[in-house]
Amino acid sequence: MAQPDTDGKRKWVYAFSPGAAEGGADMAELLGGKGANLAEMARLALPVPPGFTITTDVCDAFFAAGNTLPEAMKAEVMRALDGIGEMVDARFGDEKCPLLVSVRSGSRASMPGMMDTILNLGLNDQTVEGLARLTGDSRFAFDSYRRFIQMYGDVVLGVDHGAFEDILENFKNLNGFAADTDLDEESWREIIADYKAAIEREYGAPFPQDTNEQLWGAIAAVFGSWHNPRAKTYRRLHDIPDDWGTAVTVQAMVFGNLGDNSATGVAFTRNPSNGEKDIFGEYLPNAQGEDVVAGIRTPQPLTRKGAGEASESSLEVAMPHAFGELVQIFEQLEHHYRDMQDIEFTVQLGKLWILQTRAGKRTTEAALKIAVDFAADGLISRDEAILRIEPAQLDQLLHPAIDPGAEHDLIARGLPASPGAASGELVFHSEMAEALKAKGRDVILVRSETSPEDVHGMHAAVGILTARGGMTSHAAVVARGMGRPCVSGAGTLRIDANAGTMRAGARMFKSGDIISIDGSTGRVYAGKAKMLPPSLSGTFGTMMEWADEARRMKVRTNADTPRDAKQARIFGAEGIGLCRTEHMFFEESRILAVREMICAEDQEGRQQALDKLLPVQRADFEELFEIMAGLPITIRLLDPPLHEFLPHEDREAAQVAAALGMDLVRLKTRVAELEEFNPMLGFRGCRLGIKYPEITRMQVRAIFEAAVNAQKKTGNAVRPEVMVPFIGYRREFDILRAVIVETAEAVKKETGITIPYDVGTMIELPRAALLAAEIADGELGADFFSFGTNDLTQTALGLSRDDAAPILSNYLEHEVITTDPFVSLDLPGVGELVKIGVDRGRSVKPDIKTGICGEHGGDSKSIAFFEDIGLDYVSCSPFRVPIARLSAAQATIRRRLSGKAS
Ligand code: PEP
Ligand code: MG
Repeated sequence: MAQPDTDGKRKWVYAFSPGAAEGGADMAELLGGKGANLAEMARLALPVPPGFTITTDVCDAFFAAGNTLPEAMKAEVMRALDGIGEMVDARFGDEKCPLLVSVRSGSRASMPGMMDTILNLGLNDQTVEGLARLTGDSRFAFDSYRRFIQMYGDVVLGVDHGAFEDILENFKNLNGFAADTDLDEESWREIIADYKAAIEREYGAPFPQDTNEQLWGAIAAVFGSWHNPRAKTYRRLHDIPDDWGTAVTVQAMVFGNLGDNSATGVAFTRNPSNGEKDIFGEYLPNAQGEDVVAGIRTPQPLTRKGAGEASESSLEVAMPHAFGELVQIFEQLEHHYRDMQDIEFTVQLGKLWILQTRAGKRTTEAALKIAVDFAADGLISRDEAILRIEPAQLDQLLHPAIDPGAEHDLIARGLPASPGAASGELVFHSEMAEALKAKGRDVILVRSETSPEDVHGMHAAVGILTARGGMTSHAAVVARGMGRPCVSGAGTLRIDANAGTMRAGARMFKSGDIISIDGSTGRVYAGKAKMLPPSLSGTFGTMMEWADEARRMKVRTNADTPRDAKQARIFGAEGIGLCRTEHMFFEESRILAVREMICAEDQEGRQQALDKLLPVQRADFEELFEIMAGLPITIRLLDPPLHEFLPHEDREAAQVAAALGMDLVRLKTRVAELEEFNPMLGFRGCRLGIKYPEITRMQVRAIFEAAVNAQKKTGNAVRPEVMVPFIGYRREFDILRAVIVETAEAVKKETGITIPYDVGTMIELPRAALLAAEIADGELGADFFSFGTNDLTQTALGLSRDDAAPILSNYLEHEVITTDPFVSLDLPGVGELVKIGVDRGRSVKPDIKTGICGEHGGDSKSIAFFEDIGLDYVSCSPFRVPIARLSAAQATIRRRLSGKAS
């Protein structure tokens, strides 16, 4: 809210000038980022042109009054304007000595280029003559006037800027002029007359000559630009609330286009691409700020070094005095703000003016380097350095990325299911993907949805694209585990795998066509996109070390294969929080035995299949134990969504029938019996082991025999954590615990080796969360809880994981939700269930180990919540491990800073 003035009234306007300011950097809410920083620079006595900022409260009042400016503000503005005039020896609207101002937007968060700006305000048919006399440069004066008319006509009066451009272009063509700089005073006078006529024609009234009217019009238009479509889109993409509003800053004009000792430019105090301590920026001699942005002329580098061979053209050489002062100011601002700055400046007749400073946008690589360097120089603490990195941004470093600076041909959008980018030939079948991969070709596997048979195809592909499925659907989870980029749920694509075609709107793509996908944004492009390779710098390692020292929670990984496990260790995982044993069965060579096991009609048939699977599982577990070298490993008993394993195609059904010695019709009848309407809520998890304990026996035997072998081989003690999935009742847990204990004992007897172990459970059904005390109670209760927030979200919301995508996008549109609850935990609902589960579990077993292994284990916001409720660890897919390490560190630090930590 506005600060009361000394007489108790609201204060609408805050003035600043070098050495004196009514605001400061901490007032961005009221003055916007630009206004607050200008005030701050003024306080530091830096050379900022004097001005004032009209607060965001006025913006609120303006919209509340139906786009009308409050009268009380107008009086304050006129007083402030007189103040500026006194400082620069000019008066607003004065014919002899006119004060000219810029009117610029500035919201709390920077929204570069999204709202409007008007320069040279205060010029009219009389004051332009005054400006010409004062500067002795009538060409400059009339050029400034036409620029003002053009900007004002466009922004305030709504006359299409194309109309002005046409007039100028025609004039240049008719008179044989190539560049704007060729036009003299007379030419500009003619153009001004044409501009004014265009405004009268299009707007229906003459261009305003009253400078006060100009000012109110400009201020209202800049406030109004808060609601223009591009600003709205930008806010939506960057989570900036619509009700913040913008401030407006009015400032005395300084001119970079007053001749060869004038210039205008933009600078970053460090290189925003790699973070090196190099001044990075460009300038245009004899130009106004908009010329740099508009790209009409090619700007020159600021430094000799940046200019290379053309060092003569650098600001450092061309204007050494201004450059020297600029470098000093960069130092001062970096030290003052303790961050890399992005600065706009103007040199007017040799004198340097600073027009803006703000924290500069940077790549992740640069963000890491700058944070680590600032901490090393003692400018910020390590905690601050850690807090400055947006964890999700680390993705940029772990995968190749599509070059944001290049042009691309967008054909569809889906969910950003697994980060990274890839280009390759379209392929519609996994077999084809493998065959082409073997020939060294890059392929993108495109499927309506994926099934276990596709895992080899997914592995062979450089990227995966599906028309159906959400962020936690099979394709997404598997792709993330593999580190393959994946776009899922691109619902506008029509895929016909048999015909080998993919339709995107009116365009048709066929096998072999090249496309690119960006799994970090969900975008799909035609053709080969330009990529930037992944790179892990030394500063990445340093930042990760610091994060590890700071965090309380452990970070484990979800890994089912040796490759995942190795990758996760490279990324710093401290164990496996979830090994989905059903994923171990996806491979072509194993899936037949799994199908036999599922489709067998009797125990004998099932046992035969299990006997085939035992050595395979044992070997897999052994390798995982070896790779994890003594780190904890949670192995979950089979939790197969049955529909993913049933043989559907004739060829597959025939194979299974032959293996089981069944005739095909009976096999098909059996498959039909096993079909479920709602497989995700069907015969899954512990339900399978309770019906067929021999399956659990086989798995537990494989785990313990593997543990014995690995321990012998490596000398590292192994302590498996056996996990029961999908329970809702204590009794379910008891039944399976008994099978686990009995099998572990049997292996102990046979081998003579005691393997210590824990038996715990997933908490992934609301009933399990509510009954957590009962489930954990006593020595035979669960030794640990691992929250399965994927299923917990599905079951708490009654929203199928596999069918959620179109519903959620509709809900996002209608603002029922603000984020996908399968990506970022629904804290009030599902989060509360997790908290209840933890609290109730601890009420009977205070030291029960608690973790989370749903996809939320790699999401920063969710991780902050898990820190707050005191989980012991999070577990996420290998490529999210660094993100989780940093997020966990930030969560610990924030908790400490908020005073919540004990
Ligand atoms: C979960 O439900 O959160 C979980 C980790 O298990 P899955 O995704 O395998 O169902
Ligand atoms: Mg689950």
